Amino acid sequence: MSSPLLYVGLDVGGTTMKAAVVDDHGKAFPSSTLPTEAFKGQEHGLNQMCATIRKAIAAAGKSEKDIAAIGVATPGTMDIPNGIILDPPNLKPWQNVPVRKHVHEVFGIPTAFQNDANAAAFGEYWVGAGREAKSMVMFTLGTGIGGGVIINDFVLEGQHSHGAEVGHMKIDLGKNRRCGCGRWGCLEAFASAKSVVKRAEEAVARVTGPSILRDLLKATDEELPAKVVFQAADQGDEVAKKLVLDTAYYLAVGATNMMHLIDPDMIVYAGGMTAAGEPFLNQIKGYINELAFPVPAEKTIVRYAKLGNDAGMIGAAACARQLVMKLASGTP
Ligand SMILES: [Zn+2]
Repeated sequence: MSSPLLYVGLDVGGTTMKAAVVDDHGKAFPSSTLPTEAFKGQEHGLNQMCATIRKAIAAAGKSEKDIAAIGVATPGTMDIPNGIILDPPNLKPWQNVPVRKHVHEVFGIPTAFQNDANAAAFGEYWVGAGREAKSMVMFTLGTGIGGGVIINDFVLEGQHSHGAEVGHMKIDLGKNRRCGCGRWGCLEAFASAKSVVKRAEEAVARVTGPSILRDLLKATDEELPAKVVFQAADQGDEVAKKLVLDTAYYLAVGATNMMHLIDPDMIVYAGGMTAAGEPFLNQIKGYINELAFPVPAEKTIVRYAKLGNDAGMIGAAACARQLVMKLASGTP
């Protein structure tokens, strides 16, 4: 029996890119990072991707011939079937970058390409929070709300590479809040970390008299101080408590919509806001129990993600592994 298959997962972010060799059981060797430096242009970006992959192979003490396939995850917008990044807002001025073709030509082995949020969900599904799930919906709560939908090992990409944009489901019929996407009424416009901070700033502006929340917001040097809102709530600030409860409600609306659409085994929350811990998760679960049909409300597991910032990289490797299995079975 030959040695077990190894893959490289590469997660390209707006600031840095990270890669690691990952074995067939989802165990990652030490990761390597390089700056993305999108401003230096896409040729440089493609070279950085290949350099990060080589660095990761060296960090694992392996050589290129040990690697069965490579998976690359990038932010959108993209054309997933053709392996191209189209016009990514986080990677300006890149346009129409043939990522998969380039990496495939440089290394000469099967290369998979996936949206970073989809990849992160696939990573959690493979070896993280969703390990025992057959179907899973993930919400990644960061500056925006990303997500992924996995059903029986199938990563829902959609016909136009715009599937599983769970952050942009509409939860409000009015034009009350504009989203980062430029449209109105999206979940992200209410419940992302950025939106929580915006709602907090609006709320303290209406408060006359002392406010723990206002003081904490003023004192923090965090770039995105959503955690200050949770801290103020813990300290008994009534405005902050209401903001946290409202956020849990919005997220429960999003989860319930996905539960009624897909009926997954599991809803998983990832991203910075999960630092709010179990009490926040329990608030979300409480509202799901009010909003969802009784059977899914009782049976759907709702939990936090486990892989942290490695999810995209491990998920990219999972895509590489899936590609190898598809090629072996003759169903590419
Ligand atoms: Zn939106």
